[in-house]
Amino acid sequence: MVKINKEKIKKWEAEPPPAARVCPPGEKSFLQEKYSQLGLKNFEKLKAVPSNEKKVETEVSNEVDFYIREIAFDKMLKHCYDMALEGNEAMGLLVGDVKQWKSVYSIVYDVATASLDSSPFYVRFSRDAFEELFDKLDDIEYDYIILGWYHSHVGYTSFMSGIDIQTQMKYFSQPFHAAIVIDPINIEAKAFRILNKKCIEVPYAVFK
Ligand SMILES: [Zn+2]
Repeated sequence: MVKINKEKIKKWEAEPPPAARVCPPGEKSFLQEKYSQLGLKNFEKLKAVPSNEKKVETEVSNEVDFYIREIAFDKMLKHCYDMALEGNEAMGLLVGDVKQWKSVYSIVYDVATASLDSSPFYVRFSRDAFEELFDKLDDIEYDYIILGWYHSHVGYTSFMSGIDIQTQMKYFSQPFHAAIVIDPINIEAKAFRILNKKCIEVPYAVFK
């Protein structure tokens, strides 16, 4: 967990944010375009996996301060899609940096994925999954910041459940932290942050 603490002493580098395509809350066309671009097919015949995750209503922010490199976005989307082919959830961490220009923003350069031992009967993540991922990341030598995590909801839409919010509060409660929830069946991707102890849906901006 050494890397997690480093962010506290790191100074945010001043750099203008990249030119990016902004996907505000409610935007659907970006993911549809991604599906055709990446050759992903719609899951018409696949039924949603029953889940006990309950939707928590969230407020919406329009401030753009969350950037994702397109190759990282594609990797994350493919991971969620491939796992969903077998009815399984996917999860991973967002790896990048925090910078400042007019205001502070976070920028995802890569994602660290883990194929977890889920089966169609076991779709929830064990808390150990985080430990395992953090251990993997401790082996990386370069300077980075964990910006949050992503996970998929297989067919029950994209939202933050009570347990997702608990996870976010426990591991990723800083203002630059985010969570991305992808539903590869309903073709949805949403981003959330914890701001003033509340979970807020935020726009994300994808750059090349
Ligand atoms: Zn969830």
